[in-house]
Amino acid sequence: MKTDSFPQNKAAIKKDYRLTIKKCERVRKGKNLPTSLQPIKRSFTVQGKVTKIFEQVKAEGRKFLLEHEAKNVCKEYGIPITALKIAKTVEEAVEFSEEMGCPTVFKIVSTDVIHKFDVGGVILSINNREDAKKAYKKILENVKKHKPDAKIDGILIQEMAPCSTEVIVGAIKDSQFGPTLMFGLGGTFVEVIKDVSFRIAPITIEEAKEMISEVKAYPILQGYRGQPPADIDTLAKILLNTSRLVMDYQEIKELDLNPVMVYEKGAKTVDARIILE
Ligand code: ADP
Ligand code: MG
Repeated sequence: MKTDSFPQNKAAIKKDYRLTIKKCERVRKGKNLPTSLQPIKRSFTVQGKVTKIFEQVKAEGRKFLLEHEAKNVCKEYGIPITALKIAKTVEEAVEFSEEMGCPTVFKIVSTDVIHKFDVGGVILSINNREDAKKAYKKILENVKKHKPDAKIDGILIQEMAPCSTEVIVGAIKDSQFGPTLMFGLGGTFVEVIKDVSFRIAPITIEEAKEMISEVKAYPILQGYRGQPPADIDTLAKILLNTSRLVMDYQEIKELDLNPVMVYEKGAKTVDARIILE
């Protein structure tokens, strides 16, 4: 997510700014905070796991996390993700895909590939052993064609999330405002209409709910034409936990959960990207 491409949203962020200053003062003083703004007493192992992922990325001189690394960070923060496993051989790919239960999705794992779909590095709807074998080979072939010198770290096998309403949860570290969160509905709503809401982190659960209800496409989430309503409480928790994550790890420059499939009950992050400063 880049605010540069949404200049009109600078105004929205500024509008939120004054309120946030007050909030930040309260946070600094640590007084009378709503529960969701209080520092969470995370277990040592959770922070340890996340810190370890970031340290590994930095040690390799990388500025971005691979999808499985970003998703594992999200998972530790209670953000729902797809089941995943990395296969290093075609046999493993077939085995993991069967274990996970079809349909599955195969994706390239390479530190030289950031946009996986563009290089033919994503194959959806893998339904059996034959599909799995073909997909494994096809992805390697596609990536080699587009980027002959790409270093391949394996193939990510993941559960295929059933189609549903897609939303986007994003965060950037704004030079003026610090960690800032974004919410919108997927596809054309964000790309064409720029129908998104912003808040400066940290946010409360109430502010997370406001972010969701503010977008013009909100009625879609409430259920229309007999469609069941989406699980807004789960979405609000995802926003809240994203806020906690970007507050805890200030080295995050950009975070994108795009898309998140939202269901009548629950949600699932299908792709996650985290870029470091
Ligand atoms: P890219 O790195 O190019 O953004 P993605 O991982 O986002 O690649 O995959 C491209 C598209 O494929 C997604 O936007 C989504 O529509 C679909 N997709 C990817 N993973 C899954 C999944 N696990 N379940 C369902 N759809 C998926
Ligand atoms: Mg994507």
